[in-house]
Amino acid sequence: SIRLDGVVKAFGDHTVLNGFSLDVAEGGITTIIGPSGSGKSTTLKLVIGLIRPDRGEVWVDDVRVDRLEGDALYELRRQVGFVFQFAALFDSMTIADNVAMGLRRAGELSEQQIRERVRESLALVDLDGVEDKFPNELSGGMRKRAGVARAVALRPRYLLYDEPTTGLDPITVTVIDRLILRMKEELGVTSLVITHDLDSAYRISDHLAMLHEGRIRWQGPPDDVRTVDDPVVRGFIEGKPE
Ligand code: ATP
Ligand code: MG
Repeated sequence: SIRLDGVVKAFGDHTVLNGFSLDVAEGGITTIIGPSGSGKSTTLKLVIGLIRPDRGEVWVDDVRVDRLEGDALYELRRQVGFVFQFAALFDSMTIADNVAMGLRRAGELSEQQIRERVRESLALVDLDGVEDKFPNELSGGMRKRAGVARAVALRPRYLLYDEPTTGLDPITVTVIDRLILRMKEELGVTSLVITHDLDSAYRISDHLAMLHEGRIRWQGPPDDVRTVDDPVVRGFIEGKPE
């Protein structure tokens, strides 16, 4: 599982996370919702050791992430795939080369095995046959899916998605939601998803957590959120600005 415990993180004198704790249960999809700038992306960066907390602990299984260095960090990032907020594909590389990047760096598979893994990963996201295309030849939704293919190519145990549906049309949002569910059902991946989109949060989540003022204000099964009395939670789900 992924666990953040009492995390405090400030940038300069701006405290973003202030006693943030969250347990991401094995095998499920946990979603964090929260206002813009509330620290959602920061939590994901903590999980893969891109940034360190000022206080508190970050764990992935029995590994204390906030103490890791060098090769151990690299090893962690093979277990924990990251789907970036903006698909972050390299425009000058084909889709196949983009998806193969991590596999080549790991240096464990032959070129032939890598080609096969790339093909499988693209098929998993319903992008068969786009190997030789360049990112700018794909639609926004297809680029997102290619980003997911790149993350799953390494066969991670965990996938972190930063706003996977932002900026997509409603039909493509549904496609990405189904894809996230499929990674859980077919590959047994444990996922932590950041989103602004409550509808997709309801659709995909086993566990929903709401971030407010640096900590989890409410968490539980998504169906329960509708009956919460807390005015802050209500305001957010009813779309009222704070
Ligand atoms: P959004 O919904 O807009 O993506 P978010 O909830 O993901 O927002 P974060 O990106 O985690 O928010 O940022 C939280 C706050 O921390 C913001 O005020 C941001 O400006 C600040 N912040 C994040 N990273 C840094 C950094 N490396 N240096 C300075 N400030 C940062
Ligand atoms: Mg963000």
